[in-house]
Amino acid sequence: MFKVKAFAAHSATSPLTPFGVERRDPGPHDVRIEILYCGVCHSDLHQARNDWSNSLYPMVPGHEIVGRVAEVGAHVTRFNAGDIAAVGCMVDSCRRCEPCEAGLEQYCAEGCTLTYNDRERGSKNLTFGGYSEQIVVEERFVVKVPANLDLKATAPLLCAGITTYSPLRHWKVGPGQSVGIIGLGGLGHMGVKFAKAMGARVTMITTSPEKGKDALRLGADEVLVSRDAEAMARRRGAFDFLLNTIPVGHDLNPYLTLLKTDGAMVLVGALTALEPAPMGHNLIGGRKTVAGSMIGGMAETQEMLDFCGKHNIVSDVEMIRIGEVNEAYERLLKNDVRYRFVIDMASLKAS
Ligand code: NAP
Ligand code: ZN
Ligand code: ZN
Repeated sequence: MFKVKAFAAHSATSPLTPFGVERRDPGPHDVRIEILYCGVCHSDLHQARNDWSNSLYPMVPGHEIVGRVAEVGAHVTRFNAGDIAAVGCMVDSCRRCEPCEAGLEQYCAEGCTLTYNDRERGSKNLTFGGYSEQIVVEERFVVKVPANLDLKATAPLLCAGITTYSPLRHWKVGPGQSVGIIGLGGLGHMGVKFAKAMGARVTMITTSPEKGKDALRLGADEVLVSRDAEAMARRRGAFDFLLNTIPVGHDLNPYLTLLKTDGAMVLVGALTALEPAPMGHNLIGGRKTVAGSMIGGMAETQEMLDFCGKHNIVSDVEMIRIGEVNEAYERLLKNDVRYRFVIDMASLKAS
């Protein structure tokens, strides 16, 4: 074991503060990574504050990790010391169940091991995330970063990127389709970029009219303000596919009316109760689907990064120092992010 500097939450109500964590010594299949950048996902905030009633403390959040490989175990084949590598939301899974064998480790029947707020498999040791100097991860859960991408703007691809890319691919979004991305934050801005790159006509559906100009710059063809009932009524039955990134429980009904016959809305944001429940007629009248999606498997995460390399897609980021992370959480709560905070981890060394 060796000790590294980190930032941790110690309870649902206390701010994150400097903290030392123990990392395991790299085993034969492990990669030790010196973390350069870590994105700040709204899930970090949810978990630090125990919004999902499953938080384990002390908690070192962070699952959008880009760094430099410092050391590899004897059986590691895909990485060498000095390579740039990335880690997302999970660091392990059972590898034997049906989802794991299908490359869907995120849906592992035994539950995948999350990068933080979880326990290492077969042990009581907590996992600690990317708000730290270094991380040790098995090679299977480490991905390569295309050389042309700006590293700090690549970090958010590891969660916000794959979480939006995966459902767009699974539901075969492409040319000729009308797609709405709901919520212009970290996930939403990646959803707009991906849906556009996949050839769809993209509408940004937002509660914040002042983000409209940005939405068009990010690639949206149109902006729809969800609080404008008349504008919503005009777009009734207009969409083949909706990607819903709203981070809290909410009324799905106004969004369901936007779908065409056979349209689908995929939820990636709200984990808690959706109230009021969807009205039956909003689903039945039009054979509509409501579905959910969680991150993506390791092969698909690599595919997404390669897609980003090919299309030169990265996040729009606001860089912060680790000491500013509590303030960044407050700004996330106010929908005040343009469009992902990324921590420069050099600031942790200096802290
Ligand atoms: P974020 O950057 O805070 O963006 C969320 C956006 O949703 C806000 O900017 C706002 O956009 C909109 N919004 C917020 N509150 C709303 C409300 N009450 N009603 C309507 N719209 C609202 O968050 P994020 O990092 O993108 O994460 C979004 C959610 O996805 C979080 O709950 C996170 O935990 C979850 N998540 C899920 C997965 C997964 O695998 N499924 C992965 C990562 C994150 P406008 O200002 O445009 O309205
Ligand atoms: Zn995340
Ligand atoms: Zn499994």
